[in-house]
Amino acid sequence: MSDKIIPYGMHEMPNEDKDSVWYALGNDWITSGPLVKKFEEEICKQTNAKYCVALSSGTAALEVAVASIQFPKGSEIITTPYTFMATSNSIIYNHHIPIFADITKDTYCIDPEKIKEKITKKTKAIIAVDFAGHPAELEELANIAKENNLFLIEDAAHSFGAEYKNQKIGNIAELTTFSFHPVKHITTGEGGAITTNNEELYKRMQCLRNHGIDKDAFQRFGKDKGYMYDMMNLGRNYRIPDFNCALGLSQIKRLDKIIEKRTKIAETYSKSFSNIKGIKVPTIKDHVKHAWHIYPILLPEEISRDEIFLKMREKNIGVNVHYIPIYKFTYYKNNFNFNEIDYPNTEKIFKRTITLPLHTKLTEEQVKYIISTVNSILT
Ligand SMILES: *Cc1c(COP(=O)(O)O)cnc(C)c1O
Repeated sequence: MSDKIIPYGMHEMPNEDKDSVWYALGNDWITSGPLVKKFEEEICKQTNAKYCVALSSGTAALEVAVASIQFPKGSEIITTPYTFMATSNSIIYNHHIPIFADITKDTYCIDPEKIKEKITKKTKAIIAVDFAGHPAELEELANIAKENNLFLIEDAAHSFGAEYKNQKIGNIAELTTFSFHPVKHITTGEGGAITTNNEELYKRMQCLRNHGIDKDAFQRFGKDKGYMYDMMNLGRNYRIPDFNCALGLSQIKRLDKIIEKRTKIAETYSKSFSNIKGIKVPTIKDHVKHAWHIYPILLPEEISRDEIFLKMREKNIGVNVHYIPIYKFTYYKNNFNFNEIDYPNTEKIFKRTITLPLHTKLTEEQVKYIISTVNSILT
């Protein structure tokens, strides 16, 4: 059927989005201006968080979130090995030590019980990831954090718009980070955000995004403003341009619809695959609203994932693997001492997992084609 590969993830760009960017390009401010503020306000509305800092990527959001808490160098931060490397890299950028805890067998999010085993005197924080858009066990994590005096950071790059026990993601952990890369729910080209209810951290993060300077250009502009500013912390340039925020502002209006469409496709997949022996479709816990960033299934144990992967790609289905466990990467091997036998669930799931295309531009015909291809290859 398909003569062009169907990607696993894809943004949408209707004319209203292009108009919004075009209009923004005519403004006097094309970076650090009023549209950044407006985009942050919309993210607050969406998440019910008090404060939001928008910045240049989800990776920058993670780095700044960790930096804002100002732990002593060499602190330990516990996170999942089953994520995009930006999650654990944010710990290393800040001169701290990443400690991995294994994931659960059902949602592939970090296992609260495994975190408990890894806590030492040097542990300062937990970074959870809402894998595939399914919120992590946030209540258990918040309890562990409280009992052990740790910060809870949530990497919600997959879960913008998700809910946990009727609360919006973005308003639960002390700091929640988002990504607006084109494969994510909404895009700004490149971009990210951090939400928090903590005013002190909010102010520090605004500053860290802009070289550690206490006032940005917009705040120093005007008749009654002076030239003075101070550099408070060692920040970087992680600012996001106004026209990227114009795109985000246009896209965020459709977030509910986008999640609705992704949910429908995921449900169609799960229903169709439930009768193929040995396939495990994603688990959804009762207390969550899933945001469906990706659709990963586990293949039957006796089958080679890599073989299926090649067969699907041959049929122009852009399957992917989420994720290669972080401790397998050369950099991590060269710099740390992680041992894969400590992560049995991660190992088992990684071996069997394959991600099928999931995005709003998939047509019904393509979804049918993907389902029938999976069926014919596996049965
Ligand atoms: C996409 C992603 C990031 C990084 O976001 P960028 O905007 O690409 O920098 C971080 N963590 C996870 C889990 C992601 O999926």
